[in-house]
Amino acid sequence: MSHVMNTYARLPVTFSHGQGCRITDIEGREYLDALSGIAVSTLGHAHPKLVAAISAQAGRMLHTSNLYRIREQEQLADKLCALSGMSEVFFSNSGAEANEAAIKLARFYGHKKQIELPTIIVMEKAFHGRTMATLSATGNRKAQAGFEPLVSGFVRVPYGDLEAISYVVEHHHNVVAVMLEVIQGEGGIHLADPDFYQEVRELCDARSLLMICDEVQCGMGRTGSWFGYQQVGVQPDIATLAKGLGSGVPIGACLVGGKAAGLFGPGNHGSTFGGNPLVSTAALTTIEVIEQEGLLANAAHIGDLIRKLFAEALAGTRGVVDIRGHGLMIGIELDRPCGELVGRGLAAGLLINVTADSVVRFLPPLIFSEADARELVERTAPLIKEFLAA
Ligand SMILES: *Cc1c(COP(=O)(O)O)cnc(C)c1O
Repeated sequence: MSHVMNTYARLPVTFSHGQGCRITDIEGREYLDALSGIAVSTLGHAHPKLVAAISAQAGRMLHTSNLYRIREQEQLADKLCALSGMSEVFFSNSGAEANEAAIKLARFYGHKKQIELPTIIVMEKAFHGRTMATLSATGNRKAQAGFEPLVSGFVRVPYGDLEAISYVVEHHHNVVAVMLEVIQGEGGIHLADPDFYQEVRELCDARSLLMICDEVQCGMGRTGSWFGYQQVGVQPDIATLAKGLGSGVPIGACLVGGKAAGLFGPGNHGSTFGGNPLVSTAALTTIEVIEQEGLLANAAHIGDLIRKLFAEALAGTRGVVDIRGHGLMIGIELDRPCGELVGRGLAAGLLINVTADSVVRFLPPLIFSEADARELVERTAPLIKEFLAA
């Protein structure tokens, strides 16, 4: 085996190049990409505008430092604030780091209110990352096992349970924030009741708590609007981004507004690479192409189409529990663990995923076409049926 640390159960395939929603392995086999490297490749592979923008930026300058002003980073912050309704952005290199910034902000906010041991309410089945604080916020015992002591200051409630949140707020005097994913991604494509998000917002307003939305997976157009919280009609105080933001170039962001704005000053947080000229250009171009090519509407339309086609193709199939999601964040829950479907998909030339043991997950590039959608369902539904019939 290689000298790469054995932290992933990797599939036995290596890709050499991609074009649009197709990706080719080193033996020349082509695959339909319905995963986007886990919600990352927003514009698919080798999008000519992104390639041109990154190449040109590489020719000018890759990196300076956050010791200096960075024009591309300022432009990206302006753009993200205009789209999100926020007022300030901190740039990181990943989703976990964006969430670290959010967690630090919430604690800082608490300390300003003389709360010495600030507590953040987090959800069961949540995924917020693998660093110590974000792992502690994550609602997955398997991921945490062996890494104790976890970071303190988190209280967990069932996802979508407003009463549980209210109870904790009433009985625990140190609560400073509620942190959630509008659509839980790794947890199995779970959405709460539509009223839940608004009720959390109202509770946070009434109690001066910060509402933190982890948009690392559901943000950047995947649901059919720029951010998942816009689908459910709330404006959080903090929203975190990464995955699809740079369309494959590593960049994360912590967006703040409302009560969370203006908290951090020089010295409170930082990152060497965060928002450097290269990654900021990639994100700016990603946003520009999403706008120019109407990819928000496309995500909504193609997502609906995929769910409708799967519902038809799998109608009456025993073992299919639910077909759900929003836009291009789609899950098919089966009544049993189905991890082996990933390998079967690969053998059939399909990049699909399984999360939470029994949920087949699709996160296609936002450029997915109707023809791609039909092909995906025509080729995947028989694999699911075969698997369930065995
Ligand atoms: C992937 C993910 C993260 C972690 O992002 P990394 O870039 O892997 O650190 C955090 N939150 C959510 C919702 C995610 O899907």
